[in-house]
Amino acid sequence: MNFALRDWLDELRQTGNLRTVSKEVDSAYELSAVGKKLDGKAAVMFNNVKGYSIPVVTGLAGSRSLFAQALGTDQPGMVEKFNYALDHPVTCDLVEGDGLAIKQNIIREPYINLGEMLPAPIHHAKDAGAFLTAAMLIAKDPETGEKNVAIHRHQIMGKNKLGALLLPRHTLHMFNKAEVKGVALEVALVIGVHPALLLASQATTRFGLDELEIAGALAGRPIQVTKCETVDLEVPIEAEFVLEGKMLPGVREVEGPFGEYPRCYGPESPKHIIEIQCVTHRNNPIYHTIIPATLEHLLLGAIPREAVMLQLVRQAVPTVKAVHLTPAGGCRYHAVISIDKKFEGQGKNAIFAAFASSSEVKHAVAVDADIDVYDSQDVEWAISTRCQAARDVFVIPNAMGNKLDPSSNDGISDKMGIDATVPLAEEAGKYEKITIPGLDEVNLSDYLD
Ligand code: MN
Repeated sequence: MNFALRDWLDELRQTGNLRTVSKEVDSAYELSAVGKKLDGKAAVMFNNVKGYSIPVVTGLAGSRSLFAQALGTDQPGMVEKFNYALDHPVTCDLVEGDGLAIKQNIIREPYINLGEMLPAPIHHAKDAGAFLTAAMLIAKDPETGEKNVAIHRHQIMGKNKLGALLLPRHTLHMFNKAEVKGVALEVALVIGVHPALLLASQATTRFGLDELEIAGALAGRPIQVTKCETVDLEVPIEAEFVLEGKMLPGVREVEGPFGEYPRCYGPESPKHIIEIQCVTHRNNPIYHTIIPATLEHLLLGAIPREAVMLQLVRQAVPTVKAVHLTPAGGCRYHAVISIDKKFEGQGKNAIFAAFASSSEVKHAVAVDADIDVYDSQDVEWAISTRCQAARDVFVIPNAMGNKLDPSSNDGISDKMGIDATVPLAEEAGKYEKITIPGLDEVNLSDYLD
């Protein structure tokens, strides 16, 4: 399985899933507007971005079936394959020596000008400026050396200066350790990779599990990495761009607003700051941007979170059938879990496990195995006919949620569980879905005049 962005673009091209735009487009709004029109339909490569010689690609995978294809599996097998990768990480291969594509161009300070070098779009009407949205941030724990990969939004705030929104997850955990000591956290931002690598970076798993090793398991071979020029980090050799820098201790500057995945603006506030000291890139590089709240963005969040959720729910309720983070909930906030209930109360236990799998899960619904978790009509039907609020709905106030949820109190959020499973003591026939014999076989043209 080839594992570079270019390999994936070839695959998309061959299957008719990549469109190209030769007409000049503005990186402010216009690129985002065209990309959004193609959301869920096709990836698009902009070959003529005003003021830049570098092409921009977006929408690398806009459906579950395309992500499954990127993982070399089918849609039903996708979450299980991701689960297998979480349990069977593959150590990276360190590649050294000359001639690596990612080292074909090396630009160091004081010659860096991110705004001129990178065709980073301004996506939304009230965005504070151009943001990098598809950069994987690689760093090491300053005490243990454990590696981590994550995607953050980065506002271009100066010639070699980026903002970074750090939610209370692994990058912040590492940075806090460095900042206490008064030292910077070395980082490498990797742009332009295969979607499977992006998916691996979104694993909401334990700290210390290197997401590049999860990517190796997804690829079925070790990810090849090489040493950075100016920081003690290793990066995938197949990337298009690598930005090397440091996240500064004791420094915060106002970043934002920025249109985020819940389809609201993440507000302006003091954020962490990264200084870039070296940029390396391939010859004729391709820049990747993720347009916020598109299916590319949402599904990148959903699939790894569903995998971790399935693992935890399975521990709590062995007969779990499926889990789904719905697009209307930003693929983060709304979980649906179907179980083959064997013991009373398991609907609620499944919901507890779903909450434990990601702090972003806010409302969770448990349904029986005859409900399709991907069909919102079916899920709502279960809530309407199998749920009594006083018995089945419970609220946990003031847990950790997500700051980008505008209804949260700076990330402190209530959780609501809805157990829409049929009580085992009740007569099952009361809840049976009505059916019409022969419905599926009816061909209307045989009947209509
Ligand atoms: Mn991590």
